[in-house]
Amino acid sequence: MSLTVYSSKSMSSIFWNEFTETMPREQLDAIHLKRIQKMIRYAYDRVPFYRKLYQKAGLKPGDIRTLDDFNRLVPSIDKKDIVEAQQVEPPWGEAIALSEDFNLFRFQTSGSTGVPMGIPVSYYSSHHYGEQWTYGFWGVGIRPRDSFYFAFAWGTFIGFWSAYWGVRRLGATVYSGGGFTTEMRLKQILEYEPTVLVCTPTYALYMAEKAREMGIDLPATSIKYTYHAGEPGGNVPATRRAIEEAWGAKTYELYGIGEVGAIAPGCPRQLGVHLAEDQAYATVVNPETGAPVAPGEVGENLVTSHIQFSQPLIKYRSHDLVRPVYDKCSCGRTWLLFKDGVLGRTDHMIIIKGTNVYPTAIETLLGDVSGLTANYEIHVSSGQLNDEITAKVEAAPDVSASDYATLQRKAEGILYDKILVRIGVEIQKPGALPRYELKAKRFFDHREKH
Ligand SMILES: [Zn+2]
Repeated sequence: MSLTVYSSKSMSSIFWNEFTETMPREQLDAIHLKRIQKMIRYAYDRVPFYRKLYQKAGLKPGDIRTLDDFNRLVPSIDKKDIVEAQQVEPPWGEAIALSEDFNLFRFQTSGSTGVPMGIPVSYYSSHHYGEQWTYGFWGVGIRPRDSFYFAFAWGTFIGFWSAYWGVRRLGATVYSGGGFTTEMRLKQILEYEPTVLVCTPTYALYMAEKAREMGIDLPATSIKYTYHAGEPGGNVPATRRAIEEAWGAKTYELYGIGEVGAIAPGCPRQLGVHLAEDQAYATVVNPETGAPVAPGEVGENLVTSHIQFSQPLIKYRSHDLVRPVYDKCSCGRTWLLFKDGVLGRTDHMIIIKGTNVYPTAIETLLGDVSGLTANYEIHVSSGQLNDEITAKVEAAPDVSASDYATLQRKAEGILYDKILVRIGVEIQKPGALPRYELKAKRFFDHREKH
């Protein structure tokens, strides 16, 4: 009897681990400091890359006595630094802390910007990496009785592998959609009746278009939740709304960095993502100067993993722009909120007349214009004085082409009122822009110096 009472109480909790998720800031920071000190000592002793880096900076592990010391004194590192350290003696070279015997998995980044980075994951790391997802699943009401459909190819992209580890930790059922076409996946969803769909936001919308062609009524299917990662979208209102309406489901996202972790599961109130502070620390800085930004200001997330013991990543440049909010969230969590999720990439930042413009901000505002869809592209080119931005957006199917000019003026007016710079809008017919299966290409940079 007492077991039943205990079980129902824990199943109804909105926290996977209430103790850590509601911990006061001072205690969280005390834990961060301890773990950072331990990780720096560990990396200094075992990883030639860090020993050389810190020696060059005149830094010894004992010098880090406060989080402020860490934020100010420890040099940040970038993906290319780790790739170079690996290349000294591939595959791991001078970046690895554990012998290969301890690595349970080996993944790699996509390599779209050069040599791919190898990602070794030990059994211990995979357990915690997966648990970051479990925090997210549990917080929105997903329970062991739920079942997951993975619309994912099970390639070398770690993101959804780690989601799978998270589902194992939760104890729910997994249906693999690996190696199937979109049509076959939709048929499997009808047959197996999973309750959670895991994929990129782009792919959820792509599946919805295919379902319409096949005459499948998605809101009538068993899917109650769609959970996303791999690209922003789950926290961009227009995209989230499009997915929720198409699937008749609640849509959430997790912000992960393949080589670091599934670091920030979605806020159950859909206000953004919460950094899993028992497993990662964030130093948010101005990407130009490297100086920490004030709470609430947009900056680049430099992340330190407390759980990557195979290939430690300390003050690692994510190039992701976030807005850190340290106040307790209305969902009850004290964990750092990146409000509205990832706002853009540092290399996608557009500065016009001293104003920073983020692609996701444009996307969010376009979503407020009725008659427009979530299918859009942003093009940036060099103008005479400033960068010039044009947004191409598809109109909804029920909008008549004769109304496109009015729609364009309305959208341009809203963008100007909110961002205070002129952004051209080109209305496109439904289906005019390309469709993507995994991640959408939405940002096109035609600027000369880049
Ligand atoms: Zn929250």
